[in-house]
Amino acid sequence: DNRSEEIISDMINDVIMLLSPQAKQKNISIMKVGSCNQAIECDRSQIKQVLINLVKNALEAMETGGEIILTSEEVGDNVIVSVIDEGIGIPEEILHKLGEPFFTTKQTGTGLGLLITKQILEAHNANFEVSNNKGKGSTFKLVF
Ligand code: ADP
Ligand code: MG
Repeated sequence: DNRSEEIISDMINDVIMLLSPQAKQKNISIMKVGSCNQAIECDRSQIKQVLINLVKNALEAMETGGEIILTSEEVGDNVIVSVIDEGIGIPEEILHKLGEPFFTTKQTGTGLGLLITKQILEAHNANFEVSNNKGKGSTFKLVF
């Protein structure tokens, strides 16, 4: 593996640059909120892959228009990176299935994005937590 101290903000900026053209086609903006200046010891390309998987899911969960927010915060000894969308949300009864191999609700989904996400995070002694937003959509929190 290939780890170094990486600043969250830099990885978020890369992901925004990569996926904004695709988002723009649905009139969705992907935004970084706050400085996101925390650093984590990680494999930069793998954590970017995690963020890409989550933002792609967010885009797929949304109709046209709206925002996807990427942000990070320090909570005690942890750094928490959040991906917040305004999509369809996740039914309570499938929350526990997220990250199972081949679990998908999409016609042409692979059900591998969250599995890979889970595996990468485990290799970083991290994990993800999912919740539905009060208004609309859902939030994935990466806990490092
Ligand atoms: P895929 O995207 O190929 O379906 P994933 O592992 O990325 O596979 O996601 C698995 C399932 O989790 C999706 O099919 C969807 O039902 C649900 N899901 C993941 N992210 C979101 C999200 N942001 N909003 C709503 N549902 C989601
Ligand atoms: Mg996916």
